Amino acid sequence: MTNTTAGLEELLMQRSLTDPELLEAASKASAFRILPDAAVIKIGGQSVIDRGRAAVYPLVEEIIAARNAHKLLIGTGAGTRARHLYSIAAGLNLPAGVLSQLGDSVANQNAAMLGQLLAQYGISQVSSAGLSAVPLFLAEVNGVVFSGMPPYSIWTRPAAEGVIPPYRTDAGCFLVAEQFGCKAMIYVKDENGLYTANPKTTKDAKFIPKISVDEMKAQGLHDSILEFPMLDLLKSAHYVREVQVINGLVPGNLTRALAGEHVGTLITAS
Ligand code: ADP
Ligand code: MG
Repeated sequence: MTNTTAGLEELLMQRSLTDPELLEAASKASAFRILPDAAVIKIGGQSVIDRGRAAVYPLVEEIIAARNAHKLLIGTGAGTRARHLYSIAAGLNLPAGVLSQLGDSVANQNAAMLGQLLAQYGISQVSSAGLSAVPLFLAEVNGVVFSGMPPYSIWTRPAAEGVIPPYRTDAGCFLVAEQFGCKAMIYVKDENGLYTANPKTTKDAKFIPKISVDEMKAQGLHDSILEFPMLDLLKSAHYVREVQVINGLVPGNLTRALAGEHVGTLITAS
């Protein structure tokens, strides 16, 4: 790695930390991916885990087979139990930071269950994806399970309106993929990908195989299959410039997506 601190150090002593020249100097170092061979997969809460055995067992089998060829960071969503908690807590007028903790507890429950199902294959649940042991787990058994909720907890930045935490498990898993510079981010849900409208309520909704963040916003689809603040994270990402949303209820889809195939909707940063 080259030394890029000349000039930067001086700027850091004199300028605001958001000074444009300082920011430019601070981003000069060449790109470095921490876990370039790993893929992050998010197993949906409401869309997958809440369906129980019928949805989860086949995916567990795919995960066990896939980890022979791939290093997997397996994040979990929260789902219906979290929505129930949010409705009670919001009714009590509790703030976003409290709801974030409640959501985290549910994503943790899902990670605990998935971790138990994968235990006999040596795949463990870690209590935080940022833990330094993650690389060791990946090196030894090619997989690790984590709660997808970002641990903002009481320090959650509230949304402009309402008390639902804006950054939930879609965003949490994406941030893990981006910070670690992973090779892929795959969302495993219960629809083939993005449609022109919610296929659960609109019968003639059309499937969209590939779309950019800007196109999604232009078509009013930003608040649909992924949490919408996640789209801005994708747009400004350095490493993970596209994500794929796949239907995990279709056997083989996860395996194919991990192999780089286009089996769902690709959402691109630009
Ligand atoms: P997760 O279980 O990962 O939290 P969600 O249930 O939050 O997943 O999101 C997936 C759901 O988003 C789908 O089951 C679908 O009903 C809904 N959805 C809303 N709008 C759309 C759309 N335009 N295209 C596809 N799915 C959509
Ligand atoms: Mg969701």
